Amino acid sequence: MSTIYPPGVQAQIERGQALLAVEAERRTLMRAQRFDTIAVHGLYDMQAALMQHGSINEPAYFSPAQHFENSDHMEAALAYLMPSWTYARIANPTLHYLEETLALLEGYGVSGEVSACVMGSGMAAVFLATDAFLNQTHNPGPINLVASAKCYGGTFMLFSRYAAERGIDVRWVTDELDLNAWAKRIDAGTRFVFGEMPSNPGLGVFDIAGLAEIAHAHGIPLIVDSTVATPALLRPLAHGADIVVHSLSKAMTSSGFAIGGAIIARHNIPSRVGDDGLRANFAMAIKGLSLRDHGPTLSPFAALMTINDLRTLRGRVEHMSRHALQVARFLSEHPQVEAVSYPGLEGDPGHAVARRYMWLVDGGDDGLPVNRYGHLLSFTVKGGVAAARAAFDGLELIWRATDLGKSKSVATIPAISTHQQQGDTGRALAAVPAHAIRLSVGAEHPDDILADLDRALARSTHTA
Ligand SMILES: *Cc1c(COP(=O)(O)O)cnc(C)c1O
Repeated sequence: MSTIYPPGVQAQIERGQALLAVEAERRTLMRAQRFDTIAVHGLYDMQAALMQHGSINEPAYFSPAQHFENSDHMEAALAYLMPSWTYARIANPTLHYLEETLALLEGYGVSGEVSACVMGSGMAAVFLATDAFLNQTHNPGPINLVASAKCYGGTFMLFSRYAAERGIDVRWVTDELDLNAWAKRIDAGTRFVFGEMPSNPGLGVFDIAGLAEIAHAHGIPLIVDSTVATPALLRPLAHGADIVVHSLSKAMTSSGFAIGGAIIARHNIPSRVGDDGLRANFAMAIKGLSLRDHGPTLSPFAALMTINDLRTLRGRVEHMSRHALQVARFLSEHPQVEAVSYPGLEGDPGHAVARRYMWLVDGGDDGLPVNRYGHLLSFTVKGGVAAARAAFDGLELIWRATDLGKSKSVATIPAISTHQQQGDTGRALAAVPAHAIRLSVGAEHPDDILADLDRALARSTHTA
């Protein structure tokens, strides 16, 4: 039985329906466009612009709240019965356009509907996407989660806290290429499967379609962190994954002007917990409940910076991936380098799986399909920790920072930075050697990147 609203509220609801219909039509239209076109325009079209004084760029509203025409408008909006943003902790027009672009890009080539929700950081995305399934009120009993140990240090620490503080059994998979290693850890208490591809900093990969099938047989979702790949190279939803999490702070905004995160999910996901709304539209459930209650909101300024950087995503990722392959080859032949992890190298354990999944969207310049493996690699230096530190300290062009995915090349030693807090045991699980250097290859000319590395590596031989 549907609620009867006073005529004024009903009129607002109908106005809302008309606005929603216009956006739905635009969404259908954009889904038929190519990746670059979607990245440049998103859902913001001429009609939308005319409601923004004709501005060609998406609006940036730095207002915490929306003004309402009257009480009828307010009632309809606050009951979520018409499209509105009401209060910027939950929504904002700039965030809306970013979410629509992300849903279209990550949903490119996906048959069903896809929605997105943005938040203040990548860790907020990992937290909100996973916490939603760790609810104790449904199916009480022992809870566990299954995740690849090769993952971002922040994710490793968050899951370790789930274990320590909530008694959740965190079942780490150390051989992510082996589907059996995942399958045998899943049981009636498993709430979700989580994998990072390619992983930071180990560059681990896994068979997404195979893993999704295993998760779905248990009625649980597969969550993939594909921050390092970006939708320009990999769209996990197209291979059966249910939820994708991103740090928007990395290659999505190569300018380095924003910290942000996103959850992008297909509609109608499997889950053992949560209500019908959560299954029907996970991203919307996160927006309406988790963002409302936890409040890790993205700022409209960061959203605008991200929208702007996303317009050139494919071209940038292509550029940086080509440089990264060149650097990986150079390092793998360098006398001072012990080993290189990069899924694009033929000898890399994950190469066959990466070659199956990582393609430059819409092909190369000639339109033909071409594999690209991303901007991130890591390598170990001969001579151990002292030699690695000497090489690292010798960098003059490549920045020393815990950052990646930017136009500027950046290096870090994960064991003393991003993966420091998880300790020796945690690092052993995640395969993070103490003398590994993680390198994010940027958009500089590759000759200059190679020269900087060569000069720095020469210093590693002077340590005893
Ligand atoms: C950086 C990163 C995160 C966390 O993102 P923030 O925006 O820094 O919170 C999560 N996953 C991966 C793979 C990352 O590289």
